[in-house]
Amino acid sequence: AIVVAGSLGAFSEVIGDLQRAAGATERLLDLLAMETDIAAPENPKNLPPKIMGSVSFKEVSFNYPSRPNQAAMINFTADIKAGEKVAIVGPSGAGKTTVFQLLLRYYDVHKGDVSIDGIPVRDLDPVEMRQHIGMVSQEPVIFSTTALENIRYGRPGASKEDIVEAAKAASAHEFLKDLPDGYETFLGEKGVRLSGGQRQRLAIARAILRDPEILLLDEATSALDSQSEKAVQQALDNLLEGRTTLMIAHRLATVLKADRILVMDQGKIVASGTHNELIKQGGLYASLAELQFGVDMNPTIETQVAS
Ligand code: ADP
Ligand code: MG
Repeated sequence: AIVVAGSLGAFSEVIGDLQRAAGATERLLDLLAMETDIAAPENPKNLPPKIMGSVSFKEVSFNYPSRPNQAAMINFTADIKAGEKVAIVGPSGAGKTTVFQLLLRYYDVHKGDVSIDGIPVRDLDPVEMRQHIGMVSQEPVIFSTTALENIRYGRPGASKEDIVEAAKAASAHEFLKDLPDGYETFLGEKGVRLSGGQRQRLAIARAILRDPEILLLDEATSALDSQSEKAVQQALDNLLEGRTTLMIAHRLATVLKADRILVMDQGKIVASGTHNELIKQGGLYASLAELQFGVDMNPTIETQVAS
């Protein structure tokens, strides 16, 4: 959920607010209203309790207010069907995070439309709209409270049964039940410190509990040990199931989960396709794959035959 936002511009303000709110779970519902200065429209269009979750960017151009002369997004067009899984890859500064910021409407676009189920996000109440979006960020925030409450941030008021079920689906139950006080164990600064892979699974449990139709995943760049990596991948498979997913991908395992990969550079989509299609094309994707995912672009004759 948004509660695990990372070190990303407007998102990090959310963390500040959240850290102040830690321990006051009931305030979490107001969180998304707290940090944005984007106003709700006077007569917002309403979304039904359950939405389809299609996402569309139509000829979107945008620059950050503090940088009026530098386009962060230029004529960006992408139609993401309900339930589709789309990976976004590109070099640092390409505009990947900006895609998320605009969908969440932390900023308004200058040209074009960002829509959910065909309704421009500027016509929706931002708080209501964001209830349909979950996010798992690079650096999940762990609050100084129990493991149980940490997961409950995903959906304040959730029952313990629902929380344990979410933890199981997130491959987190095994390590959580083995903590000194199980789910009642204190985490965070003065409590038990979790490993990187455990923090990620806890964040995934929160997102599963939140059960959003649209999921934004900003994948961690840091490597995990292979045991953790397996558990995280299993957790992600469960989280992604049935949800429209946009994922900023840094790992081969993640791009391979995607129905489609968008390659971004300098605020534009420069290529799109599946991993194999893009590898064949060469170009930016192939060099990124080699650099980031360790894909061997000079395979031996044997591996060429094998593939
Ligand atoms: P990526 O996630 O692909 O690394 P970003 O979407 O974060 O790229 O950034 C796209 C461009 O917008 C970059 O040139 C970046 O410096 C700029 N940018 C990102 N966030 C801000 C911000 N809050 N204020 C001003 N410029 C920003
Ligand atoms: Mg980024």
